[in-house]
Amino acid sequence: MVADLTWPEVDALRGAGPVLAVPVGSTEQHGPQLPLSTDTDLAVALATGLAARCPEVLVAPAVAYGASGEHSGFPGTLSIGQEALEFLIVELCRSATDTFDRIVLVNGHGGNVEALRRAVDRLRGESRDIRLYLPRYRGDAHAGRTETSLQLGLAPDRVRTGRIRRGDTRPLAEILPELRAGGVRAVSANGVLGDPTGASAEEGARLLTELISQLSEQVRQWWPEPVERIRP
Ligand SMILES: [Zn+2]
Repeated sequence: MVADLTWPEVDALRGAGPVLAVPVGSTEQHGPQLPLSTDTDLAVALATGLAARCPEVLVAPAVAYGASGEHSGFPGTLSIGQEALEFLIVELCRSATDTFDRIVLVNGHGGNVEALRRAVDRLRGESRDIRLYLPRYRGDAHAGRTETSLQLGLAPDRVRTGRIRRGDTRPLAEILPELRAGGVRAVSANGVLGDPTGASAEEGARLLTELISQLSEQVRQWWPEPVERIRP
């Protein structure tokens, strides 16, 4: 964790070409059973898992706010919107590249993707070596079986298992017009898109391991050269 280090310690690592992994999440409703930090928790877990496998990776403090406009109308959702997220990432990475030559953004929230892509295009246009990792997995859309399993795998005490209820299970393509017009509130009263009733910690832990492997392989492809690593 880069936040645990002092500046001379970070300075000492620079020659070894560290990669900064920035978890990008959201603070938004995840149904009655999951905490608002679920997307951020996933992004942090992936970045931390990556650092455990790739010793040249340092994990930055997470960006815990994202573009969550579609979840407005549910108490607790704290969104900064697309434009602010894009600008935040651009400025953060401009600052980070003073110290780190290589940065990977680890995204935990689908609603952030467009803003992150725009930010990365802009930063790469400035010759900065920034990459964007988007977890690839099959699963239900929001706060369903997949995310509930992931959170059960990460921190079972944080899941209100007694409140797990099915949400709107229609295919995303079918509900998209309603979703675009009225947000998640228009299609799902409890904020769930999917069915979390079959979720399990085992399933979540398995998926998490798969995603960490996926991310590690991706990082190895982006930056294949071996890095001599020193960690204080
Ligand atoms: Zn989520």
